[in-house]
Amino acid sequence: TPQMIFGLFLLLFTGLTFWVIFRSLRQQQQLTRLKNDFISNITHELKTPIATVSVALEALKDFNALNNPQRTREYIDISQHEMQRLSMLVDRVLKMSMFESQTLQIQREPLNLKSAIQKILESLSLQFEKQRAKVSFTTEGNDFQLNADPIHLTNVVYNLLDNALKYSKEEPKIDIALTEHNGTLTFSVKDQGIGIPKEYQGKVFDQFFRVPHGDKHNVKGYGLGLSYVAGVIQQHGGQIMLDSEPDKGTRFTVFLPRYNN
Ligand code: ADP
Repeated sequence: TPQMIFGLFLLLFTGLTFWVIFRSLRQQQQLTRLKNDFISNITHELKTPIATVSVALEALKDFNALNNPQRTREYIDISQHEMQRLSMLVDRVLKMSMFESQTLQIQREPLNLKSAIQKILESLSLQFEKQRAKVSFTTEGNDFQLNADPIHLTNVVYNLLDNALKYSKEEPKIDIALTEHNGTLTFSVKDQGIGIPKEYQGKVFDQFFRVPHGDKHNVKGYGLGLSYVAGVIQQHGGQIMLDSEPDKGTRFTVFLPRYNN
């Protein structure tokens, strides 16, 4: 009868509504758990460099630094290294809080993407050397000017390069390409690292998501870099794509409109 059909429909509808609510509550719960984990992990990690620098400074105070230049140098190196780590960690907290308050706002100014990338590569040259990475940078075209946020865009390039290094094997090989076509700048970072399995490729841009690599690769991270990258690109009206094959490598490609007027 029509009443029965209606009743059945109502039941189905209520069931579906409950299911949707239940699912979103569970997702919310999971996100809260991830955030709490993040906060407790990062707090723990922040304590270590602070403690190390304190010990190094204490030691420097204790002995006559002038009489022992070698040890002085050693302690200064340690402190410097730990400070770098500290600033990286603080950077992560900032990224995280930026998401929380949704204040990722970009400020556009004229920028030459080619020179920006060249500058970044120069600043990373020591790190590349240390990891024995082979890095190439090729360009096609001659106008790499756009209106974009220099700080956030620089962070995007850093993040992609950092991942390419992190998720590579012993001697990373990274190819960066920049092209321009019809008002769009395209740049890509390609590595020959461990790759991302198909089933996870759609998830790597999610906040806190990390591919479960098992014992294969022991790299630390919080799964925040790529969600930040995607956020910045989106704010620029651009797009990011990835193609990847496990054990072959990964390429991230970013499309950016010039946004000239
Ligand atoms: P994090 O590197 O801190 O874990 P990201 O958001 O930058 O966070 O990356 C999310 C995940 O995507 C990483 O944990 C890693 O599993 C995967 N990933 C990112 N870049 C690469 C890459 N170049 N090669 C292989 N896997 C990658």
